[in-house]
Amino acid sequence: MEWIRLMKLITFLYNGRERVGVIGKGGNVTPLASESLNAMLEEKGWREDAEEKAGSAGTIPFSAVKLLAPIPVPRQDIICLGINYMEHAEESARYKKEAFGGERPFAVYFSKRVNRAVEDGGYIESHSDLADSLDYECELAVVIGKECRNVAKEEVREYILGYTILNDVSAREIQTRHKQWYFGKSMDGFTPMGPWIVTADEFSFPPKLAIQSYVNGELRQDSNTEKLIFGIDHVISELSAGMTLKAGTVIATGTPAGAGMGFVPPRFLKPGDVVSCKIEGIGTLTNTVR
Ligand code: MG
Repeated sequence: MEWIRLMKLITFLYNGRERVGVIGKGGNVTPLASESLNAMLEEKGWREDAEEKAGSAGTIPFSAVKLLAPIPVPRQDIICLGINYMEHAEESARYKKEAFGGERPFAVYFSKRVNRAVEDGGYIESHSDLADSLDYECELAVVIGKECRNVAKEEVREYILGYTILNDVSAREIQTRHKQWYFGKSMDGFTPMGPWIVTADEFSFPPKLAIQSYVNGELRQDSNTEKLIFGIDHVISELSAGMTLKAGTVIATGTPAGAGMGFVPPRFLKPGDVVSCKIEGIGTLTNTVR
C-alpha cells in the first residue's frame, strides 16, 4: 500500500444527507461517492479518488456542513484496551481498592457497544437516572483500513487507515457493579468520536502524540501515546492472530491517568460539563454532558 499525504476523512451532513468526504486544501469539503466510510473501505479505488479530492480546493464550504462522527455507526462493537497506561492502571486500582503490583503481563481487551457515535460538538448523555459516576477517558482510536488476519508486528502499519479521538465515557459504579465493563461503557451517547480520521501516513509509527483532556477548560489528563503499555503493533498482531479484523474496525487504545475516578475524592461529570479530548496532529473532540 502506498502512503499518501495528509488526508482528513469525514462523515458529514449536508442538505439533509449523510455523506463521506475529505477536507481539501484551504479547508473546504469534497464529498466522496461512497454511502458511508464503512462502504468506502470495501470499494476499489477509493484511496486514489480521495487523495485527488484532498489535493483539490474542495467544493463545499466547511462552515456549510455539519460534521458527524467519522464512523457514526460502527459495524461491530469497538475493541477497547483496558488500563493501557501505567499511571491509569494505578489510579484505577486505587479507585477499586484493589492491589496493583505494577505489572501487566497481558493486554486487557473488552468491547463497547456503539449504536451511534456522538460527533464533535454533540452531547454525552448523563443517564442520571441510572448513573451517578459518569467519567471521561480520552483515547487514541485506530481504524483498520482493510480486513486482516495474522498480521506480523512489522506489517501492522499497512492495515491502519488512520487515527481519530474517542472519549470512552464510562459510568463507574455500573462498570464496577456488573463486573464486566460492557454495560457501564455502552450506554447511548457514551462514545464521542472524531472530529475526523487523519490517515496514518501523517504520523510516524507507532505514533507518539501528546494526549490531553480538559473538563470545563481545566486540564485533567496529560500524557503521550508513546506511553501505551501494549502498543498498536502488539495489539493488532495479537488480536489478528485469533480473529479477523474487518475494515472499519475501531480499536480504542486506552486512556492515560487523570480520569475523574483518579482524583481523591473522585471528580465525576455532571450535566453542563464540557469535556475536550485533544490529540496532537488529530485535533480536539469537544462534547457537553446533558
Ligand atoms: Mg477506556
